[in-house]
Amino acid sequence: MSSYTCSLVKERCIACGLCAVYAPAIFDYDEEGIVLFHQEPEATHQYISENHYASILKAYQKCPVRAILIEQSSNQSNRH
Ligand code: SF4
Repeated sequence: MSSYTCSLVKERCIACGLCAVYAPAIFDYDEEGIVLFHQEPEATHQYISENHYASILKAYQKCPVRAILIEQSSNQSNRH
């Protein structure tokens, strides 16, 4: 089974707020409205569980500046 990693490119984020509309369990914002992971505010990437994939994919598609990236990985060797 393949797994996915979501990465955030915070320098690109324009604080539009859309990602948390589509994936509120995953995304949150700092005090300036810049995206971060809800559960790991310091992280720049996070493993995506199967049940969150659809909502993260939606956020990825809706982000106007491609600040959210989804990468497929065949193993979980870089989990943290
Ligand atoms: S949708 Fe993109 S630009 Fe908008 S807050 Fe989320 S990461 Fe930032």
